[in-house]
Amino acid sequence: MGLSETEQQRLGEKLLQVKKEIEQLLCDSVNSSRPVDLGLSIGRLSRVDALQQQAMAKANREAHQRRLVLIEAALHILKSGRYGLCRSCEEPINLKRLEARPETPFCIECQTDREGK
Ligand SMILES: [Zn+2]
Repeated sequence: MGLSETEQQRLGEKLLQVKKEIEQLLCDSVNSSRPVDLGLSIGRLSRVDALQQQAMAKANREAHQRRLVLIEAALHILKSGRYGLCRSCEEPINLKRLEARPETPFCIECQTDREGK
């Protein structure tokens, strides 16, 4: 059995909320990720730090973007009425898992399988 109407609705709202949060994060990170000013007298080490931080911010942004794609897909699936089913084995995904990551397309078994490869 899949999710009840109420559960789907609740998770749908959660998806929209997470989506908004991530969009906000992405917006903030664009504003704060100006190029490192190498002309500043900050010394070599802090320059490396600054570049490292920038790389981290970039990785973060990419993770957010990937999550956003999953959320969009999940919202789409929600409309089609197949939300909450694993995209690989089509078994219902554990509700607790969906509450933690409502955008997840796979059940825990399939996710573990995929990560194990
Ligand atoms: Zn599965």
